[in-house]
Amino acid sequence: MIIGVPKEIKTHENRVSLLPGGVTRLKRNGHQVLVEKGAGEGSGFSDEKYVEAGATILEDIEKLWEQSEMIMKVKEPIEVEYSRMKEGQVIFTYFHFAASEALTEAVIESKATAIAYETVEKQDGSLPLLIPMSEVAGRMASQEGAKYLEKPLGGRGLLLGGIPGVKPANVMVLGGGIVGVNAAKIAAGMGANVTIMDISMPRLRYLDDVMSKNVDTVFSSEANIRSLLPDVDMIIGAVLKPGAKAPHLVTKEMLSDMQDGAVLVDVAIDQGGCFETSKPTTHDNPIYKVDGVVHYCVTNMPGAVPYTSTLGLTNVTLPYAIDLANKGWKKAVKEDAELQKGLNITGGEIVYEPVADAFGLEY
Ligand code: NAD
Repeated sequence: MIIGVPKEIKTHENRVSLLPGGVTRLKRNGHQVLVEKGAGEGSGFSDEKYVEAGATILEDIEKLWEQSEMIMKVKEPIEVEYSRMKEGQVIFTYFHFAASEALTEAVIESKATAIAYETVEKQDGSLPLLIPMSEVAGRMASQEGAKYLEKPLGGRGLLLGGIPGVKPANVMVLGGGIVGVNAAKIAAGMGANVTIMDISMPRLRYLDDVMSKNVDTVFSSEANIRSLLPDVDMIIGAVLKPGAKAPHLVTKEMLSDMQDGAVLVDVAIDQGGCFETSKPTTHDNPIYKVDGVVHYCVTNMPGAVPYTSTLGLTNVTLPYAIDLANKGWKKAVKEDAELQKGLNITGGEIVYEPVADAFGLEY
């Protein structure tokens, strides 16, 4: 099969969908890989490395799409890419169809086969191609929060871990899932006092078992959140209600209970945010203040660490890509229930119920 790797063109997207090591693996399986010139540069992988691995570098992006039987990307195709998708072509990337009717229509019209990273699903309901990005965002959340607690950056001038004789910061983590546990690990590792709050008792029991001594678990209720707010220096929003907007667990009115220069990091901003005063920000302009409280609400946190994010992503996507290339998508999807869940649109038809539901279409 001929596999094409375009350079990502969405603003500030420096990840790449395939590493030189992945090219080698695909070549060994008898496939040919076309890589757009400069595709790996943002993540630190030069064209030379791809050539050494056996890829063909193409400058002409139209030709790359035209010649490829499978396109591997990171982000969903954007408008200029719509006309490049074609009948019979497999596109393996993050799509997030429910967020864009225009993209959904463009893929339907192209009659290409869209296999979406975000809906590949294991039997236990976990989403293996989303987990690494939640891990990155969670770990980054504590790192960024610690930075914005510094006075010159708008925070209250507090060192997260304290020092001998001076208390460390109090960190509240709302949601003890993948993002939350990774955020808590880093904050606790830096010496902060961490409280993880969740509504799942089994999850709280598990976290109580495995986390370090400076991490407490508290059931997530409005009363419990309110009682902790006056002493909290940093809150990390990491809740997820699958398929729904994030609940507003800290309202504007509650900010007045918080200390001046405290920091909110809303990782759940991509689902609308779990603080009422959250609004999406970018890496160029990541923070703003409301009532003296610093808000960090960057929607694509992993984009700031493309090296780590690319490696984390490609670790998990490559085995599926090899399977798709070796067997062809129909056989691969038939034989692998996880990959089957990733199939969203094919031959002009939506074949994934939640996407059809999102637009009130027949499924
Ligand atoms: P997850 O499903 O692993 O964890 C979510 C947790 O929230 C679960 O444990 C759940 O029980 C808990 N929860 C639900 N309602 C709650 C409530 N009212 N109070 C407390 N806890 C509650 O999800 P995840 O992978 O950790 O992702 C969390 C969020 O981070 C998602 O919205 C995800 O899209 C987002 N995310 C954002 C970025 C970014 O760059 N901003 C990157 C990755 C993930």
